[in-house]
Amino acid sequence: MADCVFCKIVSGEIPSIKIFEDEKTLAFLDINPLTYGHCLIIPKEHYEDVFDIPFDGLKTVISNAKTLANNIKSSLSAKGVNLVNASGEAAGQSVPHFHIHIIPRYEDDKLEFNQWWQSKAKQAGPEELKKLAEQIKKDNYRN
Ligand code: 5GP
Ligand code: ZN
Repeated sequence: MADCVFCKIVSGEIPSIKIFEDEKTLAFLDINPLTYGHCLIIPKEHYEDVFDIPFDGLKTVISNAKTLANNIKSSLSAKGVNLVNASGEAAGQSVPHFHIHIIPRYEDDKLEFNQWWQSKAKQAGPEELKKLAEQIKKDNYRN
């Protein structure tokens, strides 16, 4: 796609520090890392978000994300990893080319992601959750 930053990274028009590449996937270091080794994995083909990407493309990306997560855990001695995807502006997506953040986690990384999450989490009762589940199950999007 002409005006897409990540398509330009795929074509080499914008430089990047690559850490993995195969026929359909590319992974490179994030230019504004949250932690040591924060990287992004993308399909080479342009798909906007999780709603747009076909199942097969997503399977390839997530499978390579798993390989990278394992490699990063051992090579950087990470204690854990967060895999994060933002799909849509409302979710905070700033680059509209599907990508998964691979964020290595360390005991002293001070990211405080979990503390923030816990501070925002609400309580929900079983009736509310059952009603919600029925609402979600009404739609049947399938591969
Ligand atoms: P989003 O906000 O869409 O979930 O994540 C986009 C990510 O892409 C951000 O973490 C941002 O730092 C990264 N990013 C944006 N432009 C570039 C770039 O030109 N090169 C690299 N390596 N990362 C970028
Ligand atoms: Zn693109």
